[in-house]
Amino acid sequence: MRVAQIGSGTPELAILAGIHGDEPCGVRAVERLLEQRPAVERPVKLVVANERALEQQVRYVDEDLNRAFPGNSDAETHEGQLAAKLTDELEDCLTFSMHSTQSHNEPFAIVKDVTDTARELCPQLPVAAMVETGNFSEGRLFTEIDTIEVECGLQGSETAAENAYSLTRAFLTATGALPGDTVSRDLPVYRLVDCIWKDQADTYEVFVDNFTRVEQGDSFAAADGEMQVADEPFYPVLMSANGYRDVFGYTAEKLDVLSSPTAAD
Ligand SMILES: [Zn+2]
Repeated sequence: MRVAQIGSGTPELAILAGIHGDEPCGVRAVERLLEQRPAVERPVKLVVANERALEQQVRYVDEDLNRAFPGNSDAETHEGQLAAKLTDELEDCLTFSMHSTQSHNEPFAIVKDVTDTARELCPQLPVAAMVETGNFSEGRLFTEIDTIEVECGLQGSETAAENAYSLTRAFLTATGALPGDTVSRDLPVYRLVDCIWKDQADTYEVFVDNFTRVEQGDSFAAADGEMQVADEPFYPVLMSANGYRDVFGYTAEKLDVLSSPTAAD
């Protein structure tokens, strides 16, 4: 784990990268901030989490870090120990944690619950949606630490790295660490309802787009050509053919659209 700081004083804000070692976009954003060292109005902690997995360019070494919280300093796994260290390091910070996916190229935010902080900050980020994980939060960083997660784009892409940087700047502006104004936008909010399991197969296909409603009777995915058909309507979230071992992604319900304040022009 690497920890740095910009600005002086005790940080109440943290930028976190590299929870997953095969998602380099956030690390690039942190490195860029460290090079620029912008004049901040509030101190900011910068953390690169799983350096060992990043070196090996793998999601994790022993177990998924974002399912390992709160962790334990005596844990037998690298990520179990790291989760405990991160929990200590971040406990007083509102944390902005960057990820990327194989599922969706447009950035979106992920939160445990739609808190007042999430309602205030997420519409000021350049994201297309906010997802509440609800019952699917176990072991994630935000069960321990007040966190806004963002998916920055496709894993390993230059666009995801650019997005990670813009998202970080927007987060720091929205929280008053950087001067200036943010742009607010209308933000649809989704809550995860269920996993979409996938059977063991050689080839997987997905036929639907994230955040686009699937109707009852629609074929939405296939494992070795065997169609999976929706028995009720849902919104797919984090859907990908090969992103996860056991699931295609999640079904979600649409909760709300947070509307931005009307511009006074
Ligand atoms: Zn990730």
